[in-house]
Amino acid sequence: MITGIRGMNDILPPDIPQWRFVEETARRIFGLYGYSELRSPVLEKTELFLRGMGEDTDVVEKQMYTFADKSGDSVSLRPEATASVLRAVIEHGLLGQEPIQKLFSIGPMFRYERPQKGRYRQFHQINCERLGESGPLIDAETLCLAYDIAGALGLSGIELEVNSLGCPVCRPAYQQALRAFMLSRRADLCDNCRRRMETNPLRVLDCKAESCKVAVIDAPAIEDYLCPDCRSHYQAVLTALASLEVPFTKNTRLVRGLDYYTRTTFEISAAGLGSQNAIAGGGRYDGLIADLGGPAAPGIGFAFGLERLIMLLEPIPTQTQGCFVVALGEDAKEQALCLLTALRRAGIRSEAALDKSFKVQMRHAGKSGYPLCAILGGDEIASRTVTLKDLGSGEQSSVARDVFVNAVKQALDL
Ligand code: AMP
Repeated sequence: MITGIRGMNDILPPDIPQWRFVEETARRIFGLYGYSELRSPVLEKTELFLRGMGEDTDVVEKQMYTFADKSGDSVSLRPEATASVLRAVIEHGLLGQEPIQKLFSIGPMFRYERPQKGRYRQFHQINCERLGESGPLIDAETLCLAYDIAGALGLSGIELEVNSLGCPVCRPAYQQALRAFMLSRRADLCDNCRRRMETNPLRVLDCKAESCKVAVIDAPAIEDYLCPDCRSHYQAVLTALASLEVPFTKNTRLVRGLDYYTRTTFEISAAGLGSQNAIAGGGRYDGLIADLGGPAAPGIGFAFGLERLIMLLEPIPTQTQGCFVVALGEDAKEQALCLLTALRRAGIRSEAALDKSFKVQMRHAGKSGYPLCAILGGDEIASRTVTLKDLGSGEQSSVARDVFVNAVKQALDL
């Protein structure tokens, strides 16, 4: 037996209603906020992610599916959507056509991580990018959008954590203070963090190793190092969130895994998921579009992890409103196929098992979950009628073939 690849899941039919519910809900809420959908390829030039995400990030360093294609070019499966979406925006000059872009995308991402509950090698994200606006109200509105998606999915017990990562003006002083602090705790840091404290000290605050978590408890907080502009921006975001009745907590340790974030960053987590409890994360990235060769336009975005959202939902039963058609005899079977087609063309879900004996067909009808069964036998053919059977009560009635579709519609309350 050839099995699937570890960490890459099949999504089987019973789970599909939940996937559709999440995707359709997200699409509806994005629609309310005036967003358009953009679909980019899953494969990009590797250099896009090196430039977009920063070479010293875990994702780029350890988790990318990178390989040479047949012409020897290095390509990578996208580990996140932002770099791809921005590449598409820049390549097609979308910001030149309309300086404000509000885009969402939904699709698979790939990271070579250690698979566990809630963490996979192929997973799906619902992604949002809002480009061309830099004010704090934009941040608040974007966080509110993420919060509204979670709300529309009916999630409870969710927590929004917010932080500001400052900007190129104030972050260097903070990084300096952080480096000095970490030097004093060097012995307690893991090997990776001893290296990272030089190259990227913020990343140490994000380390999952217990010893590192303890070592940075008293680390300086970025809030104390924000420049006046970043401070007032941050304050205005928090004030607006309060007015929008979006509950949040501040978390000065929230640095996120990617290099490109500036100012507002945030994460949404949900109770009931175990250790992988982050359902969404994002933030502002004012330098990224220019870094990728585009115009000097600001941006902010976020991504929800679809698998984790689905883990939080109750199962959704598959749709069972419809009519099962049963036929006795070869002539009746052929005519039953005509009835099925007429029902479907009228928008009524219908099924049959015409290859089987009458008894087995009736058994299928009973198991179908449909409330109604249409029976066609010799008598019905002779009198140009169809027998309708209510599969709940067992009650039967005879309807003329000419009004069959309408009778089914009526019986199903459609
Ligand atoms: P990130 O792109 O790392 O900020 O992740 C955004 C969201 O995607 C997270 O909050 C998770 O819900 C989800 N996510 C990230 N990595 C994985 C993964 N390997 N498996 C499943 N979901 C993931």
